[in-house]
Amino acid sequence: MRHGHWLVLLRGLGETIEHPALEELLQEEDWRLEAYADSLLRGDFHEVHSGEALFIWSALSLYFSQLAAHLPAVGIVQGEERQFCPVCASAPVASSILTGAQAGLRYLHCGLCESRWHMVRLKCSNCEATGGLDYWSLEDAKAPVKAESCGECRSYLKVFYPEHERGLEVVADDLATLGLDAEVERQGFGRSGVSPFLFPG
Ligand SMILES: [Zn+2]
Ligand SMILES: [Zn+2]
Repeated sequence: MRHGHWLVLLRGLGETIEHPALEELLQEEDWRLEAYADSLLRGDFHEVHSGEALFIWSALSLYFSQLAAHLPAVGIVQGEERQFCPVCASAPVASSILTGAQAGLRYLHCGLCESRWHMVRLKCSNCEATGGLDYWSLEDAKAPVKAESCGECRSYLKVFYPEHERGLEVVADDLATLGLDAEVERQGFGRSGVSPFLFPG
């Protein structure tokens, strides 16, 4: 479902940014770049050098954001596999619990194209199991950022509560709460989804 246009965007980055890793990357043939993109989107970082991974991710992100911008702002997600972004099929990078008229609804955030979509709170956003979710925070129960872990698949995803703190920003507050990641990982959970800021190396 990914159009080769993302490669045009990647090559476009090469015209505006001078970076040895990017230059090296652009020497590769298209089929290999497609394979790199596939493995990154699967969450497999081993095949791509981390310096190059950021550029591939940027081009993909640009591509999927442009795609998302051409869709109606509000749509209804249908079908199974709600845990994946309805626009680009990536795993969510975080979730947030809405306030106001839609108070209590959980929206998942795509880390790639920046779309948001609704998924019931009862289900694990990784394996869709119900009932095995626990919440972790380094502060009290009113913490604005918590980790939601699933006892079934042993993964976790961060949940943002704008109700507890206004002005939360997913990327910045994700980075600001890496201590929470460390704690939840110590408890034996692995982070689901892919964040370009957490590429190894
Ligand atoms: Zn997406
Ligand atoms: Zn799960």
